[in-house]
Amino acid sequence: MAPVARPDTKTLFHIDLTWFEKNGRDLREAMHEVLCDECRARYPSPSDAHPVDRIHPQTAEVTRVDALWESIVDHCAQKPGFITPATPLTAAIFRALLANGNQPMSSEQLHKRVGKSSAAAILKLLLGSEIENGVVPLDSK
Ligand SMILES: [Zn+2]
Repeated sequence: MAPVARPDTKTLFHIDLTWFEKNGRDLREAMHEVLCDECRARYPSPSDAHPVDRIHPQTAEVTRVDALWESIVDHCAQKPGFITPATPLTAAIFRALLANGNQPMSSEQLHKRVGKSSAAAILKLLLGSEIENGVVPLDSK
């Protein structure tokens, strides 16, 4: 029997993309909302962006990603206003994962990226009864 790991601040979290569908939410709309003004001008509505190929910088693996996602990772998230101290914590966590291309992040990493709260508080929030924006532990089914 594999031991059940107790989640800690090193436990990885990601955005469960199917959560949006299951909960009647539109991920592309949620992504569109986090775009900077420039990108929103380029893609006035979520349906204006189409999937594009993205090459992983380390593995050279090619994945189809949404152009909205591409814009967030390569552009919007690079700007200082993407996550500010005024960004609500749950929104900041969602933005941090989007900015990371949904590569899983631990509470510690999220804490560093959002620059507020604490790793322990972020972990507690992520393990709370309410799942926000589909952010769940990596290995949860
Ligand atoms: Zn942008």
